[in-house]
Amino acid sequence: AKDPVRVLVTGAAGQIGYALVPMIARGVMLGADQPVILHMLDIPPAAEALSGVKMELVDAAFPLLKGVVATTDVVEACKGVNIAVMVGGFPRKEGMERKDVMSKNVSIYKSQASALEAHAAANCKVLVVANPANTNALILKEFAPSIPEKNITCLTRLDHNRALGQVSERLSVQISDVKNVIIWGNHSSTQYPDVTHATVKTSAGEKTVRELVADDAWLNGEFISTVQQRGAAIIKARKFSSALSAASSACDHIRDWVVGTPEGTWVSMGVYSDGSYDVPAGLIYSFPVTCKNGEWSIVQGLSIDDFSRNKLNKTAEELSEEKALAYSCLA
Ligand code: NDP
Repeated sequence: AKDPVRVLVTGAAGQIGYALVPMIARGVMLGADQPVILHMLDIPPAAEALSGVKMELVDAAFPLLKGVVATTDVVEACKGVNIAVMVGGFPRKEGMERKDVMSKNVSIYKSQASALEAHAAANCKVLVVANPANTNALILKEFAPSIPEKNITCLTRLDHNRALGQVSERLSVQISDVKNVIIWGNHSSTQYPDVTHATVKTSAGEKTVRELVADDAWLNGEFISTVQQRGAAIIKARKFSSALSAASSACDHIRDWVVGTPEGTWVSMGVYSDGSYDVPAGLIYSFPVTCKNGEWSIVQGLSIDDFSRNKLNKTAEELSEEKALAYSCLA
């Protein structure tokens, strides 16, 4: 039998955490033959709720779940973890200045980075979900210098999956037959959902999404804004933000990273930019990636037309501004 993998979830008593931990304990993230030990961290005001989540995990009697650590102590939470899913963060509250929210999250991610740096297992893989996800991941990278930068990522897979969902609904095709959409840039409303290279498997072979949809006005307009604004639409309908889809996408992100992407398929991940596609190096930016042997690589050589170029630049500019704001909070 395989040794258990230790998976940390921060903000584990929150909405996404509540949807995510049972998926991990059932093997959705790491596979049906991979035992796990869950480490759940939350802040003291959420400690009681967290103990309730632990009780439910015990009650669910998950065969793969070999242990649960539920704590408000960041050092205890980070000890020996192989995978860290960072869901906890300070929420945007009405009337708060952007700088104040950033400042709270910078201090959270700085201290959690130090704990991971000192106590996580070697080669720990990190996924940041909490917003501003890209910039929180960047701060985490800065303050965990011994964790390789390749191991620090943020979630844009939910946006990626939303784009697949929109194409599948529009064309009335199975979502599993649609592939290779791209989310470029920030996990924010400046993200660019791009279908230029996306394809659909049909009985007549593989076709491009552009030829099948045959409506560039929709693809360059409503499709993009629907994906960008989907989070707000869910809050409006459900009165709570998206949690099950965020949790499910976090599992997809880690699974593909660890197990690998299928031949000919890429996914979107927020990763440390090396300057590919003229995106400024040193930002955490969402790119199309393939994964193999536990490592991602940015898909190279895709053509970028003027429409796309403009959108790639815009979301990069926003990330550069966020980075400057985050650094000003450190000063
Ligand atoms: P959620 O579980 O709904 O969301 C957690 C984080 O994920 C938020 O930052 C949220 O951003 C972000 N997020 C990213 N993508 C999505 C998406 N698609 N849909 C929804 N959220 C998304 O929040 P809760 O308030 O229920 O839970 C947060 C937990 O974090 C609580 O248990 C709380 O105690 C803990 N916490 C920890 C702190 C710390 O570690 N110091 C500080 C504050 C809270 P957005 O805000 O933009 O919705």
